[in-house]
Amino acid sequence: MSEVLVIGSLAYDSVKTPAGSAKKSLGGSANYFSVAASLFSPVRVVGVVGTDYAKEDKEILIRRKIDLQGLQVVEGQTFHWEGTYENDLNEAVTLKTELNVFAHFNPEIPVSYTQSSHIFLANIDPTLQLKVLSQISNPVFVGMDSMNFWINSKQSDLLEVIKKVDILFMNETEVKMLTQENNTITAIEKISKMGPRYVVIKRGEYGVTMYSPEKGYFQSPALPVSNVVDPTGAGDSFAGGFFGYLVKNVQGQPSWSDLKRAVLAGTVMSSQTIQDFSLKALLDLSPAQFERLNQDLIRMTTLEG
Ligand code: AMP
Repeated sequence: MSEVLVIGSLAYDSVKTPAGSAKKSLGGSANYFSVAASLFSPVRVVGVVGTDYAKEDKEILIRRKIDLQGLQVVEGQTFHWEGTYENDLNEAVTLKTELNVFAHFNPEIPVSYTQSSHIFLANIDPTLQLKVLSQISNPVFVGMDSMNFWINSKQSDLLEVIKKVDILFMNETEVKMLTQENNTITAIEKISKMGPRYVVIKRGEYGVTMYSPEKGYFQSPALPVSNVVDPTGAGDSFAGGFFGYLVKNVQGQPSWSDLKRAVLAGTVMSSQTIQDFSLKALLDLSPAQFERLNQDLIRMTTLEG
């Protein structure tokens, strides 16, 4: 059986957007990813939370049958991120990053996780991403994400991770920052030479660009959404939909056409997340609603009909 293992942050986020604010609400890259992916496939989580992490928040993952054997609970406070979005909803401004229990986290993978087929190294300290990846025997497909915080503070470990993955997800600002290029296309082609076979650039309301040196470019628009409440977690929900789709529908290595379909699935998931604070809108999405939105997106991207 196939499944996806994710290492990433389980967090409390304090977020302010033009639509309002939410204080210490549930967030974190691993939470968004696993809730999105679990609509399609089995998910295993590696991470750490503090003793302040609410029982109800853990139960959200349990209700979606997410495997939490790799989740540690230790004395201290859960990771806390504070951010704001001003005029540009595509770009978060970080006000505070409090690593708390993540600062001393040493991920030990349960034996049952070591054979996981798909791995997603969600946004977290690249040293932790490397430690987790080194404990997996023979993964079929490995993806990663990161952000400016780690590009600035842990760049050499980040470059090590980039060398080892099949697919890299980043936003435009991050890829330009990492490559020191100011043209997105130049930045994509430069980063694709650093290791990953595929590069996926998230462009918020302008959609997604995927690139492979053999296949060239694929672009998907975003679903049109007028009710953008909080863009936090859009990238992780995208990755969750993308990986969940692949695990459910593709055996072994995905083809270019499989990856295109996975981009559309990810796009649907991120369009949900942004319509409310925290994980609220994402948790409400049913498989039937997903299917309708996915068909809408397919109609928007084809010439027929
Ligand atoms: P995104 O999908 O890029 O909007 O990711 C948003 C999530 O990333 C938030 O829920 C934050 O808790 C989490 N986050 C923010 N900064 C970091 C960081 N430095 N490391 C790990 N996770 C983070």
